Amino acid sequence: MSELRTLIISPNWIGDAVMAQPLLQLLRAAHPERPIDVLAPPAVSPVWRQAAEVDEVLETPFRHGALQLRQRWKFARMLRQRGYADAYVLPNTIKYALIPWLAGIKKRVGYKGESRYGMINLMHHDELPPRPMVPFYAALAKPPVTVQGPGLRAALPRPRLAASAAQIAEVQQRHGIDPARPLVAMAPGAEFGGAKRWPAGHFASLAKAVLARDPSTQIALLGSPKDQQACAEVAAELPAGAAFNLAGATSLAEAIALIARAAAVVANDSGLLHIASALNRPVLALYGPTDPDHAPPFSDLAASISLRLDCSPCKQRECPLGHHDCMVKLAPELAWQRLQPMLAA
Ligand code: SF4
Repeated sequence: MSELRTLIISPNWIGDAVMAQPLLQLLRAAHPERPIDVLAPPAVSPVWRQAAEVDEVLETPFRHGALQLRQRWKFARMLRQRGYADAYVLPNTIKYALIPWLAGIKKRVGYKGESRYGMINLMHHDELPPRPMVPFYAALAKPPVTVQGPGLRAALPRPRLAASAAQIAEVQQRHGIDPARPLVAMAPGAEFGGAKRWPAGHFASLAKAVLARDPSTQIALLGSPKDQQACAEVAAELPAGAAFNLAGATSLAEAIALIARAAAVVANDSGLLHIASALNRPVLALYGPTDPDHAPPFSDLAASISLRLDCSPCKQRECPLGHHDCMVKLAPELAWQRLQPMLAA
């Protein structure tokens, strides 16, 4: 065993993984000599491959929601061979805390979560009301007793990802995107549920305003296979050839590369929003049933829009009131007012 490493066990959501990235910046600054490995599910691992602080990404072989004790024990044995000084367990479940404990990693840092006494031996406790996600994760870089208060938040680095010129050129060529014409990325989906989605017709109206300003603009509609229909509805309202419906057609790594070259990104409160923010692209973030202050965009040029209705944030997957006013009444004209200066810049 040559050198001891740091192990990060990643959150299982893309947006949360992005917002955990400043923790790695703090850990790298504290131990520049120590390689950092990230253990992540395959759906999230492309995010970590674009983070400069990560030396190796290890994909988890576990099924979602399954304990799979035998597999976890085998995985832990492999980790024991690699040699870790410390482990940071970002999911709150016992089954993820088991891994570094079984691997015999001496320092195991995390939140109490599912009462993980013993498995986590440097235990943090969350504040009430809950902090925004970046300070929530970044606090794990400091001892538990010193993390509270606004001082730490003010000093925090922002999430930071990067895509190479070669990655960008390759994805543009593969999907027929003209590198010489401007590109605006839109992400009309949201994995969490329909309540977070701005209506497809509103995205289409906003895209029309973008095209009226500059008809040479290409609109890239991004998302997972589940977002194909929403993206198809947007594309159907736009002139032929103006929009690329790429939902389900790109890998996450390709979507990251496209976002990295976009003039601006418009997104619901979703993983792609936080990726755009970490790539420091101009971002327009649309919030409905979630709190815009909990996971805000961090780009130099960013705007969040929320009507902040009395019923918001309800944090529900589907609108419990049935009208979805938080998104339906958020007018495309209001979004255009915020997006236009970003495109001009
Ligand atoms: S209850 Fe209110 S905040 Fe929640 S989805 Fe419906 S309109 Fe939006």
